[in-house]
Amino acid sequence: MIDNQESTLSVETIRIELEQWLDENWCPDRSLLEWRNILVDGGWAATEWPVEYYGRGYNREQTALVFEIFREKGAVGAASIGPRRLASETILAMGNDEQKRRYLRPILTGEHAWCQLFSEPGSGSDLAGLSTKAEFIDGRWILNGQKVWNTSAHHADYGILVARTDWDKPKHQGISYFLIDMRQPGVEVRPLKQMNGHASFNEVFMTNAVIPAEDLVGGEGNGWAVATTTLSYERRGAAPSLSAKSSTKSPQKGQVYDEYRSELEVANEPYTWYPQRQGRPDLVMSRARQTGAIADSVVRQEMAKLFCMSKGAMLASQSAESKRKSGSNEIVPAGSIGKLAASVIARQAAHVHTMITGCDAMLSGPDSAEEGMIAEVLISVPAISIAGGTDEIQRNIISERVLGMPKEQRSDTGPFRDIKRNT
Ligand SMILES: Cc1cc2nc3c(=O)[nH]c(=O)nc-3n(C[C@H](O)[C@H](O)[C@H](O)COP(=O)(O)OP(=O)(O)OC[C@H]3O[C@@H](n4cnc5c(N)ncnc54)[C@H](O)[C@@H]3O)c2cc1C
Repeated sequence: MIDNQESTLSVETIRIELEQWLDENWCPDRSLLEWRNILVDGGWAATEWPVEYYGRGYNREQTALVFEIFREKGAVGAASIGPRRLASETILAMGNDEQKRRYLRPILTGEHAWCQLFSEPGSGSDLAGLSTKAEFIDGRWILNGQKVWNTSAHHADYGILVARTDWDKPKHQGISYFLIDMRQPGVEVRPLKQMNGHASFNEVFMTNAVIPAEDLVGGEGNGWAVATTTLSYERRGAAPSLSAKSSTKSPQKGQVYDEYRSELEVANEPYTWYPQRQGRPDLVMSRARQTGAIADSVVRQEMAKLFCMSKGAMLASQSAESKRKSGSNEIVPAGSIGKLAASVIARQAAHVHTMITGCDAMLSGPDSAEEGMIAEVLISVPAISIAGGTDEIQRNIISERVLGMPKEQRSDTGPFRDIKRNT
């Protein structure tokens, strides 16, 4: 949570002020960048952020109202797609003033896209086992190593990255957190193709890549605490974006809309299959009716199970949100419960789609069920149990931090260089 003095303005006051501001400033004939700079200067790009960093200290309800007014007006908001939010939330929470001044504004204006460089071939769940090396030489950090599964790295200008800076400390203590320029000769991005035909991920190789000393976040050896902050935001993925959403429906005309549509086309490309990895429970009722499967009582039973799970998860997420508002600090476990629930729901949805569609669910292409969407659901659902921490890892977190069960036994204490690890 952003350490922030919350605004006490009423909904009516916010509406009057914002509507007047939009009447005076919104004009679709500007360039997107020009508009976003006006938006940031006006303090309407990220109203939940602190006043000293482009925000207004609004709470979730006040921010939701801002989204609504932007939508009503058809005005374009700040850039919000992809891991920008992970980067900005982490920089806001753990970065120094200079880092906040340098990096937050171009995230909001859309000038900089970001990616997350955490996972490595030998360390995913066991992120603290990472072995990308950062050495401080002649006043700057020199990086060597490999990252993998890095969503949107092929579009990114900057990355949030964890690397090992001390091999003689226990593994969690020898890690540091960096902001890395992706557009430099020492960084090579290689796209990976998935079984669902999309290519969201990359391998990223660093060979003597350079990071200036001032792009270390949270101090040397403190990277685990900073990475945990990023992960807690990632697992709370359902929280609303800080950026104002706006409609991109044609036929809205004007330079801002044209440039915004182009921005979305590129930025959304790695995420077009993300709704499918959630199992598309929204398609279940219409598919059951359309195919006649709704007449089958066993199918209906499984559909009911799915809808109860979805409703239960929604209520649990609302309860976690109200705890958060009342000042509770349970971010990580609440995120883990929600994330695990999303996996269970996606699997149940895939199961129900299989019951409804039968063998045809294996077919793709225009003549197949929902033009191949059901097949895409079935091969995309496994991803939700892996991304952002696997189901087993969420269960470990819940058992230790929510249920108070004994911790996993460890065989990885002592200096990192002496620990047995995947290479
Ligand atoms: C859609 C998607 C997007 C992603 N985007 C990014 C990204 O942008 N940036 C990035 O850095 N990474 C990204 N990842 C990678 C993701 O974070 C890792 O895949 C994940 O952390 C798991 O690591 P792994 O693949 O190495 O599996 P492993 O850690 O090797 O796990 C293999 C199996 O062992 C189980 N396991 C491991 N440890 C334990 C344990 N202690 N107890 C019980 N079971 C255990 C796991 O649950 C899993 O079933 C993405 C992954 C996906 C699917």
